[in-house]
Amino acid sequence: MLDRAKRLLELKVVCDHCLGRQVAQLTSGTTNDARGRALRGILALDYDAKPYPVKSENFANIQFRNKKAKKAKQKSCEVCFGLFEKLPAYAAAAVRELKGIEYHTFVVGTILSRPLATVEEEVWEEIGTEFCEPLKAEVNRELGKLISNRTGKDADEQIPDVTVTLNLAKRQFDVKIASLYVYGEYQKLVRGIPQTKWDKYRVTVEDIIAKPFMCVTKGTGHSLHALGREDIDARCLGKRPFVLEIKNPKKRTLNLTTLRAAVNQSKKVQIFNLRWSDVKEVVALKESRAEKSYRVLVRFKKPVTEKDLKMLKKLVGSIRQHTPTRVLHRRANKLRRRRLCSMMWKRKGKDVEFTIRGEAGLYVKELITGDNGRTQPSAAGLLKNPAVVKALDVIAIHRN
Ligand SMILES: [Zn+2]
Repeated sequence: MLDRAKRLLELKVVCDHCLGRQVAQLTSGTTNDARGRALRGILALDYDAKPYPVKSENFANIQFRNKKAKKAKQKSCEVCFGLFEKLPAYAAAAVRELKGIEYHTFVVGTILSRPLATVEEEVWEEIGTEFCEPLKAEVNRELGKLISNRTGKDADEQIPDVTVTLNLAKRQFDVKIASLYVYGEYQKLVRGIPQTKWDKYRVTVEDIIAKPFMCVTKGTGHSLHALGREDIDARCLGKRPFVLEIKNPKKRTLNLTTLRAAVNQSKKVQIFNLRWSDVKEVVALKESRAEKSYRVLVRFKKPVTEKDLKMLKKLVGSIRQHTPTRVLHRRANKLRRRRLCSMMWKRKGKDVEFTIRGEAGLYVKELITGDNGRTQPSAAGLLKNPAVVKALDVIAIHRN
């Protein structure tokens, strides 16, 4: 250990931080700064309260050199270029960057400048990396402590509210605010609005839900991650689970009850069961393969008999569906098999109202119309009676 320290001191002007860091893993419960000072003490180099010893090829000359050391004191560490002395000022700058942002936890990251990285490599080549700690790690930790002291906020590496990156190459701080995730369930009570941003549509389910959240959080963007989506012309009367993500929120303490009430002012969308969520739940929603129930109002070209309707029981089972014509312009043409779990019907004047339950991804309109033979079997195909879907509602989303 002492050999390493001597070797480094011979090589460069080194501050206590940079000296101690090379043997950081040998002792715990102390700082690199203290380790460096201790090493200097052992090497009888503790001739100044805060010395940067001059390079010395010959330790016998220490006494002689000590006089010169007073002058050399002004010289910066040749490993970190005096970075650790600047940390309090950097911490102050970081706190200024964080002003106006509500956060409870933070984490510090560092991007080294090219010269710093190069010198670190040089040092490691000379004295080895066996017990050392990387410069970045020490800067992150020490800057973190300083910011914590100034703000009273805790450093949290696992799920920080903000990430402050000290970019030493660009001499600036980058602040990244963690997204907020709110779980809820929505009903879409009207036809003609898409779930998320879509071509010419000005109103979306996402916008209606996100608007009050954006007002309060002053976020810069939002995403609605939902368990599936209904067609634009379909209502969603069943409660559809979603996670709303607010990007770059300046405020993260929210009153979900008030926000829910604000969204529910809308006559178009209602939301329920709000609670805090996280990105893991987004993934789970996206992977969920929940069965759905639908109500479909259908008009057949020719009158249908009771016998006809009973025949439709044959549809229950596996349905082969080529990508529907109506979405072919944006999705690849492929054949999929989806299960129709159940089918019930009720006459409504000239029309028939079906209540059906199907596997996730079943195209319901095509199950009725047959989509020119692209879906088989289908109601229209089975009865040899063309059919159109007059109205479609999602009435339940079955999560297990
Ligand atoms: Zn240094």
